[in-house]
Amino acid sequence: MTSSRTQSAVRGRIVTFRDNPFNVPPSEALLVEEDGLVVMEGGLITQVGAYTTLRDTLNADTTVVSYGDALISAGFIDTHVHYPQLPVIASWGQQLLEWLDRYVFPAEAAFSDPLVARDTARRFLGELLRAGTTTAAVYCTVHPQSVDAFFSEAEGIGARMIAGKVLMDRNAPENLRDSVKTGYDDSAALIGRWHGKERLSYAVTPRFAITSTPEQLEAAGQLLREHDGLFMQTHLSENLHEIETVARLFPERSSYLDVYDHAGLVGPRSIFGHGVHIGEKEFCRCHESAASLAHCPTSNLFLGSGLFKLFEALSPERPVRVGLGTDVGAGTSLSQLRTLGEAYKVAQLTGRSLHPVQAFWLATAGGAGSLHLEDRIGTLAPGMEADLCVLDPHAFPLLDYRASRCESVEELLFTLMTLGDERCISATWVGGACVHTRENGSLYG
Ligand SMILES: [Zn+2]
Repeated sequence: MTSSRTQSAVRGRIVTFRDNPFNVPPSEALLVEEDGLVVMEGGLITQVGAYTTLRDTLNADTTVVSYGDALISAGFIDTHVHYPQLPVIASWGQQLLEWLDRYVFPAEAAFSDPLVARDTARRFLGELLRAGTTTAAVYCTVHPQSVDAFFSEAEGIGARMIAGKVLMDRNAPENLRDSVKTGYDDSAALIGRWHGKERLSYAVTPRFAITSTPEQLEAAGQLLREHDGLFMQTHLSENLHEIETVARLFPERSSYLDVYDHAGLVGPRSIFGHGVHIGEKEFCRCHESAASLAHCPTSNLFLGSGLFKLFEALSPERPVRVGLGTDVGAGTSLSQLRTLGEAYKVAQLTGRSLHPVQAFWLATAGGAGSLHLEDRIGTLAPGMEADLCVLDPHAFPLLDYRASRCESVEELLFTLMTLGDERCISATWVGGACVHTRENGSLYG
């Protein structure tokens, strides 16, 4: 491990963003430095530029880690994922509501045991780093100890992470239910313990409208009003049966999003998972409130939920903030490269072609914007937090073969997102320290 207090530097092909490729031509939005250097100190990036220009400015004792022609990118950002569902990734045969009953709730019940929580959190964080992901918005379980376990492990790595205790006071097994009062009290205690500590932020986390009473949703809104800078994460319009159930449970509300809006849960740093089946009115409300949607293509395909309307969401007249989520365990991979490959296919099925520069923007700078963290993470520039991943275009024979025929960085990015996965991540850096290498693994093996 490298200490983040000392100066460190990495050399390779830098790919990052100077603009939003959904607003300007992709080639103008992408910033490439063919032989580049990223210099880091005190957890932040201090310089980014050509190696030949910057090499003479380095401290005499600074070692440059050289990655050859590998791509150096900002670390990936996963805006929707459930760490306690890692044990049930790849579970067969159900759609959303039955899948929750059959696989997820039994798996989450095990997290009353702090040792299960700690071991799963460690494995999950190890897998995130293996995938080049350095920030995630994470659902824990209803048990406060599941949040303590996750945050204490994330703190050990020094990663910027967002997480919260699931609130669920109805339509769930007895051993996974809280109450309006215990849900509020446990969340408030966790906020006091973790929110704003190091790089950790708390997210008030009602699972979704089906499993919270109107009173619990109101209490969630109260928590948001009582503490500065909290996130809010929940699910929205993922599956048609889910939407019908919400309409039955909340007949007085005009839409699914209105259920959350009524409780004061729609605003900046509100992250709504999925939003597959929403329309213009909801897109407008998300735009004006600066709330975000987490697009989870592998999950939406795996559970047969539907096709997210990415280009409608990002329409320049009223762009909604959109990030990418793996949504493991309904998602089928923690790799953002694989998620981008599936996002491309979902867009194709809606008649649009997602450009590789747009795709990588969603996984980095766009994801940061969706979390209102674009001034800290998601791009490689002086002053930004020093989280990055290194993408090896020679990771396996077919990739190496296809990459050798690429005539531009854009084509190489598309090859990586179509063929690539965790094998392509040769190193992951967090806060200016190398925390994972493909050869030697991470803190967590
Ligand atoms: Zn989810």
